[in-house]
Amino acid sequence: MENCLFCKIAAKAIPSTIVYEDEDLLAFKDINPAAPVHLLVIPKRHFATLSDCSANEAPLLGKMLALAPRLAEEFGCAVGYEADGTPTGGYKTVINSGPDGGQEVYHLHLHLVGGARPWRGMR
Ligand code: AMP
Ligand code: ZN
Repeated sequence: MENCLFCKIAAKAIPSTIVYEDEDLLAFKDINPAAPVHLLVIPKRHFATLSDCSANEAPLLGKMLALAPRLAEEFGCAVGYEADGTPTGGYKTVINSGPDGGQEVYHLHLHLVGGARPWRGMR
């Protein structure tokens, strides 16, 4: 897609801090982080919003979601457990969709937001 910021990032026409790449996906650091860890996972293929995906995209969407805990582990915000089973750490996985969903960039992306609190949080 011409004039799509994240397509340009996927094509490496615009610089970003890439933290993961495979044939389908790219993950990079959010330029305006809302928390100690704030990554964006995008499909390389352009979908404007989650509502522009069909059931055919279930494997791709699953791949995006399955990447999140792997990146959380790598960036030190995975969920862990104390000896007594109390959970520790953690992150949010968020897809903003459409204007009422607070979406600003119209190329599907999954936010991975985590790390020790307090956070500024997301809009
Ligand atoms: P959303 O509101 O869900 O569409 O989120 C868009 C996100 O993209 C925001 O968190 C922005 O900080 C982030 N963003 C915008 N431009 C860039 C960029 N060039 N590189 C990395 N992140 C960006
Ligand atoms: Zn795009």
